[in-house]
Amino acid sequence: MLERTEKLKGHIWGRASVVSLPTFLVTLLLLIFAPLLVVYFYISAFYFNCSLTAPIEAILNGETNHFPTLSLNAAALWGVWLTLQILLAMLPDRLHKWIPNYQGGECVGSVTPSGYSHSYNINGLQAWIISHILFIIGAFGLGWFSPTIIFDNWGDLLWIANILGFSLAIFVFAKAYLFPSFKEDRKFSGNFIYDFFMGIELNPRIGNFDLKLFFNGRPGIIAWSMINLSFASAQYSFYGYITNSMILVNLLQLLYILYFYWKEAWYLKTMDIHHDHFGWMLAWGDCVWLPYMYTLQALFLVFNPIDLSFSYALFTLAIGLIGFYIFASSNNQKDKFRKSDGNMLIWGKEPNFIPCQYITQDDTLRQSKLLVSGWWKVSRHMNYTGDLLLSFAYSFACGIDYLFPYFYFIFLTILLVHRCIRDEKRCHDKYGKAWEAYSQKVPYRLIPYIW
Ligand code: NDP
Repeated sequence: MLERTEKLKGHIWGRASVVSLPTFLVTLLLLIFAPLLVVYFYISAFYFNCSLTAPIEAILNGETNHFPTLSLNAAALWGVWLTLQILLAMLPDRLHKWIPNYQGGECVGSVTPSGYSHSYNINGLQAWIISHILFIIGAFGLGWFSPTIIFDNWGDLLWIANILGFSLAIFVFAKAYLFPSFKEDRKFSGNFIYDFFMGIELNPRIGNFDLKLFFNGRPGIIAWSMINLSFASAQYSFYGYITNSMILVNLLQLLYILYFYWKEAWYLKTMDIHHDHFGWMLAWGDCVWLPYMYTLQALFLVFNPIDLSFSYALFTLAIGLIGFYIFASSNNQKDKFRKSDGNMLIWGKEPNFIPCQYITQDDTLRQSKLLVSGWWKVSRHMNYTGDLLLSFAYSFACGIDYLFPYFYFIFLTILLVHRCIRDEKRCHDKYGKAWEAYSQKVPYRLIPYIW
């Protein structure tokens, strides 16, 4: 044991960071072009019926009057939304006392490279339910505002979301130098732009309020289903009915969002929380990219109300549900396996596993296990494969004539393939030979017999 500890000393996973020139250039391009791309999709939807070529032609012809404007109304909406979400995030969770098998309240995350185990107030499901009840009562019950309020202010809200996303990224960058929460868990690459983009602090907090869990998991994801509902209402207000494609997109994405909140304690163990540092990529991504680009299908259907045939709709639903089943059951298998330390059944059998070890910065040797049963024997990331299948169903629900609604699927494919490579490098750094043995036993990364 001591020998292994000695061997692993100085080999702390999640630390090494060499920024190559191509990585730096990609970072720079994303910083500049990702915000412009979001504006481009907005213009394409609101002025060019979701054509992806017409806006560029218009801009080249000098038409610049399609850009969103800055409005006090949108700032007030964002202000109310953010304040509500902060308050809801601070409320103690009640649901775990009432709902059997729901894990909420105080939960502990994975061990960080410096050996910390942070605790979190898990109450996302409660926050989602209260937020939606307020929206539904306010819009449909009391008529305080129109259910299309989000759609009506979509362009103006984009400005505020950007201001918030950039300010948050600058704040956490400065905070990492001036008053870091856990300074041993900071990561510096020596390149300012890259550090601003990827983040320095792993778990920046203000008191006990965790900024990464909050921004990754609350204002944007809770808003996601509300934005879809607002888009469905806009479709109704334009055409007098809601298409089956819009219902399908709303339902499939609702399933995904509710699963996320049902399993929020599991989210603490995912790469987002236990590996990714909090910088521009997450801060801006949470405030702008997620609410604007994950909702493109419902936005597309406002302008293109597509009525699917019964068989097409059924087929799309089947793809979505199969994808969701693979996504959820593979994530559940790993989660239960890790929580029970292997004392559970997978597909009716005791799970096989490879024992592994890793070391944290405090030179503590820790034990873990890599699951080699269930979905985790089919490929090393079947949870990504299921997610991709589900995201394909969202796009397919919008027909096959436009590229616009397929953007999310294309983006998620690139993100998850890249994530797969990143995660495997990290696991190899962390577990060494044990990871190699796992990769030999389960040779496919994502799609069995293909990659
Ligand atoms: P995983 O939940 O697969 O977590 C990867 C980690 O799991 C590894 O770093 C390792 O962590 C552990 N692990 C890997 N293989 C095994 C094994 N065989 N047995 C036990 N533990 C293992 O990935 P993510 O966190 O990236 O994603 C979680 C989910 O979120 C996925 O379903 C993904 O599709 C989804 N997602 C969705 C996104 C979206 O925008 N819609 C974006 C990103 C993810 P450890 O250090 O604990 O060993």
